[in-house]
Amino acid sequence: MYEPVWRHPKSLDEAVKAIGDAGESGRLIAGGTDLAVLIRKGVSRPDVLVDLSGVCGHAGVTVADGRIALGALATHAEIGAHPVVRERAGLLARACSAVGSAQTRSRGTVGGNVANASPAADSVAALAALDGDVHVLSVRGDRVVPLAGFFKGPGATVLARDELITGISFDLPGSDARSYYRKVGQRNALAIAIVSIGATFDPETGTVRLAFGSVAPTVVRARAAEALFASEWGTSGNRPALVGAVARLAAEAASPIDDVRATAEYRMMLVETLAASSLKEMCLGTCA
Ligand SMILES: Cc1cc2nc3c(=O)[nH]c(=O)nc-3n(C[C@H](O)[C@H](O)[C@H](O)COP(=O)(O)OP(=O)(O)OC[C@H]3O[C@@H](n4cnc5c(N)ncnc54)[C@H](O)[C@@H]3O)c2cc1C
Repeated sequence: MYEPVWRHPKSLDEAVKAIGDAGESGRLIAGGTDLAVLIRKGVSRPDVLVDLSGVCGHAGVTVADGRIALGALATHAEIGAHPVVRERAGLLARACSAVGSAQTRSRGTVGGNVANASPAADSVAALAALDGDVHVLSVRGDRVVPLAGFFKGPGATVLARDELITGISFDLPGSDARSYYRKVGQRNALAIAIVSIGATFDPETGTVRLAFGSVAPTVVRARAAEALFASEWGTSGNRPALVGAVARLAAEAASPIDDVRATAEYRMMLVETLAASSLKEMCLGTCA
């Protein structure tokens, strides 16, 4: 019978000490919506489980100094319902509201979603388009890792074994900024993304950010397409044509595979279609 040793730290200091002391066989657990499934399947059997759910002060959303800070223990339900997130970073509210079922959203945390490093993670495509930073702590101190450099592959991150995520933060988007999130799955609810897109448009600077999930080993930003948009948007005499060109270029950022949910060819088609839809809605004010 599987009987792990449980640690229940009440503070971050206690949590980093507990995961440091646990050695190779220790794992953090927050909402447990990913890890409990793996344990039940026998895929993961950590000897020590460090339960973060009692650590104070790292749930919820804080807005201060022009930044939005998500505590690692903030649940998808909390983030999706937060008024400032909904108003200024609507793509993140929509992404969190697209996670699983109501039960999953009320237990699953954003820290767990990021640490789990699934290329299909809903919050991650939105946070990538918001240029998020991941805040990391261990007994050696803290560090900030840009989300763009956080993932190494499916299930793999730059986190050391004894590090934990304390939160994710990003600049508060301007009041006229626009955003877009869409997840295409095999059905409308309780579906893993076949392709997801998180996108932002800042009309003041004439810049867009386009991030895609489930089309590569990690979330990807369509940097070349973003650069084309930034260089031509202000002077373009034919913005609908520019939007089409940017969407076609965005597809080049994807390197999808065939899997049980969809073919690579279908995913490539979706990336271009979703990029075009997002740009039409955010930048031209038209529906695709
Ligand atoms: C039925 C069901 C449907 C789902 N649907 C979706 C979906 O539609 N979209 C989606 O994106 N996900 C989905 N998920 C996956 C899951 O709910 C999310 O990834 C969730 O955000 C994980 O958070 P958690 O707190 O439950 O993580 P846990 O399961 O507690 O942990 C997950 C991993 O992250 C690590 N971890 C947790 N917190 C930290 C931290 N602070 N620092 C460092 N490491 C940490 C753990 O060690 C573990 O490796 C679904 C899961 C289920 C069971």
